[in-house]
Amino acid sequence: MNMEPLHLTRCSINTATLGHREPIDVTIDRIAKAGFGGLAPWRHEIEATDVRRIARQIRALELKVTGYCRSTYFPASTQAQRVANIQSNVQALNDAAELGAECFVMVVGGLPEGSRDLCAARSQVKDGIGALLEQARKVGVPLAIEPLHPMYAGERSVVNTIDQAHAIARELDPYHDGFLGIALDVYHCWWDPQLEGAIGSAGKDKRILAYHVSDWLVPTTDLLLDRGMMGDGVIDLKGFRQRVENAGYAGMVEVEIFSRDNWWKRPPDEVLQTCAARLQSVC
Ligand code: ZN
Repeated sequence: MNMEPLHLTRCSINTATLGHREPIDVTIDRIAKAGFGGLAPWRHEIEATDVRRIARQIRALELKVTGYCRSTYFPASTQAQRVANIQSNVQALNDAAELGAECFVMVVGGLPEGSRDLCAARSQVKDGIGALLEQARKVGVPLAIEPLHPMYAGERSVVNTIDQAHAIARELDPYHDGFLGIALDVYHCWWDPQLEGAIGSAGKDKRILAYHVSDWLVPTTDLLLDRGMMGDGVIDLKGFRQRVENAGYAGMVEVEIFSRDNWWKRPPDEVLQTCAARLQSVC
């Protein structure tokens, strides 16, 4: 395989990778000092402070914001709650715009409490994204639907494959003006037998808005909080990037690792140095 090694200026750190142990301004300084070109912060970090101050800090350090994490789940058992969820997302989109985020990450939600109706949940998701799209255009922040591994369909996302996310994007945004696409995360999609074709057609359609990396550990001991550092698991990360780049994606590579018992216990600078080394050797 003949790919350009990743330069750190093309790499971004999702702040979850550091375990949310420090205030966001400290985290941002660490990420910049370690040489990365961007970051992806979470709402609870930003909403706890002054978004304009953080936006100024990010601009001063010339960091890109590769995504703002993440949407309030759309499905709910009442109409009032579904409307409230959309409102919450409108609010977050405004903050995403203030931060200059390249996209707002849509983790769409699972089944409403007590429901077994997957089709209804999926149509609520479609309605919710559709309702948000106008605001996304207005504030200039694209929506990136992130398909999640099917093990999360019950509680976190009823959108589970690249093809499914792509179909939603095509249906809701036939005009294709760049405000609705997909966040591709290797952790969620690596197992997909349709991977190559799905990435190819999403890329051809210019829908790939973000690319997230980590690794799938064998065995995996926690459904949410046991993601691996790149190179420690079984995902063909170079092969994955090759496919994404062949499909036309030229954006940033974002590291997103949830690792309660391992990386979240290590010093943040050690985590960042390891990310940097692995990005340049195994991704
Ligand atoms: Zn992700």
